[in-house]
Amino acid sequence: MMAVLLCCQVMMAQAPVADYQVIPMPRQVTRIQCSVPFQLDATVAVVAPDDPVMQRNAQFLCDYVKQSTGITLKLGGTAQRLIVLDLNLKDDNPEAYRLTVSPSQVTISGASPAAVFWGIMNLRKALPVGQTTAVMMPAVEVYDAPRFPYRAAHLDVCRHFWTIDQVKTFIDMLALHNINNFHWHLTDDQGWRIEIKQYPRLTEVGAWRDSTVIGRNPGKWQRERHGGYYTQEQAREIVRYAADRHINVVPEIEMPGHTQAILASYPELGCTGGPYSVWTCWGVTPEVICPGNDKTLELIRGVLNEVMDIFPSPVICIGGDECPKDRWRDCPKCQARIKAEGIKPKGKYTAEDQLQGFITHFACKVVTDRGRSPEGWDEILECDIPQDAIVMSWRGEAGAIEGARRGNRVVQAPNSHMYFDFYQSRDMAAEPFAIGGYIPVEKVYAFDPVPAELTPEQGKLIMGCQANLWTEYITTFDHVQYMELPRMAALAEVQWTPVERKDYRSFVQRLPRLLALYNLLGYNYARHLCGVTATYTPVPEQKALRVEMTSLQGNAIHYTLDGSEPDEASPVYTEPLMLTGDAIVRSRTMGELGFPERISTDTVRVNKATFCHITLNTQPHPNYVFGGAPTLVDGLRGANSYRTGFWLGFCGNDLDATIDLGRMQRISQVAFEADVFQ
Ligand SMILES: [Zn+2]
Repeated sequence: MMAVLLCCQVMMAQAPVADYQVIPMPRQVTRIQCSVPFQLDATVAVVAPDDPVMQRNAQFLCDYVKQSTGITLKLGGTAQRLIVLDLNLKDDNPEAYRLTVSPSQVTISGASPAAVFWGIMNLRKALPVGQTTAVMMPAVEVYDAPRFPYRAAHLDVCRHFWTIDQVKTFIDMLALHNINNFHWHLTDDQGWRIEIKQYPRLTEVGAWRDSTVIGRNPGKWQRERHGGYYTQEQAREIVRYAADRHINVVPEIEMPGHTQAILASYPELGCTGGPYSVWTCWGVTPEVICPGNDKTLELIRGVLNEVMDIFPSPVICIGGDECPKDRWRDCPKCQARIKAEGIKPKGKYTAEDQLQGFITHFACKVVTDRGRSPEGWDEILECDIPQDAIVMSWRGEAGAIEGARRGNRVVQAPNSHMYFDFYQSRDMAAEPFAIGGYIPVEKVYAFDPVPAELTPEQGKLIMGCQANLWTEYITTFDHVQYMELPRMAALAEVQWTPVERKDYRSFVQRLPRLLALYNLLGYNYARHLCGVTATYTPVPEQKALRVEMTSLQGNAIHYTLDGSEPDEASPVYTEPLMLTGDAIVRSRTMGELGFPERISTDTVRVNKATFCHITLNTQPHPNYVFGGAPTLVDGLRGANSYRTGFWLGFCGNDLDATIDLGRMQRISQVAFEADVFQ
């Protein structure tokens, strides 16, 4: 090791320095202490094996370096300092890579071309963003491999249509976050989005609706035609674009529910014959395709075969969720099918439920006949499903547990953690209108896709997890990005990083460098973590509310308690506040990393019961316990959705609670707020 210790400090002081602890956090990052760094500048050449895929990888590397730093690397040829891409790594995990940086050479060795691409992505994210002539890359050895092979993100293009260019940008976002499956939700009640040559009316008629309901179905419509579809050639272009970035495209064709756009195109495939129109509302429609009609089965076979011609994906999604059986019960053809097939009720499931199983089996067979694996939302578990079907657990984790116990493979996409159409702040009034719910970045991050209930053997059936973006209330692509970012960064770490390497505090500290890249790429992202995070805890002993505040980078926090806008003259937060009366808490940090600031606002309203000891004599439903009893006396209102966690939910038993006011007091009025769900 001789005299190489000499001058690395001096050199590093003059140029920006790379940091390999990116998002998602790699498995192992071992700094080589007594070595000079590799200087990345325009004299460096990138060399890769002479095959198209590895050459394309090399081109991506050059493009990314240029984009982040302005440095133009040489592609191919010889140079004193090299970045070498190779496939020499032997590893059981096909996506494992090793990134080695020495003074004269950077090597990314992968177990596959995809693995090399993820290594390139690490290098890309390790570089500081900003124009420069050189970056110092400290000597290091990074070994990395993903925890899960199936890392997916879903985009609904039916409720609102997204252009080919927007879909490509979405795929770019996935690549940046090491996500290797794009779940493309192509068909639904409100629009059919993929050209099918044998059934042209699916797009001629089914791709367009003449109006769209305003808000959450209040009975008013925006009278404007909305729609669009992808030609097969455009879909193939997306498949290629994704494949270049080592991302597989999983097409989803919904059935038997969410098929009103099919019925609008081919009314004879419904139980009643219609008339039908492409749906202009949100939710679940009773109008679904008729499994009693042989022509329905022909359409399913025809559509899936054309879809499999376009998409080489090993996984083909056949939907399966939210199918009302009302029409089937009254339909002679459906009842004849039940009879002819000998379909019987089973357990709590009716014959009509099992009729959905008949359709599921039919679609699964079309898919498996071509060597692909069918995938469906967890309702497919309501009937017997083939062993090679993959279950997407969306109604919490119950489907994942049940699926794995039955021996089926599982993709986790629970609406408790993975629904990116939910709000990401409790301050919903300050957010773009959304479907409801509350899933902040921290909650996404906390998710572990392997349920504790499973045995280790069953746990191996969890292929990975997926975040869903349903777009009922999302009308611009800026808004798509706002809902995805930075929750997708948390998702990336859930999907990629081993549990023992996960750490939310560390994640938050690493996030600003990724945000800098979002800024460079022009991505719109939510800034909740850029401002102040306030947490509120009632302290009955002091009849007070404890307020703790933190900021992303630990910068000074200024706050006010009277609702006025905080500025540099406002008090600086130094220790937890103890509130005893009404307050409107507003806080902000000043100039944190130059990111646009966000002022956080929370309203505290105090009455005789607020901050007192409370005991629940009846227990909430286990799904709706959230913060427990203190939620009812913390002085914070529940906002417009129970999923904010500012509510408790009771089911079948009435609320009975004792609030200890501490001493005898006159009470003039008792009031509480409740919402009733059927
Ligand atoms: Zn029918």
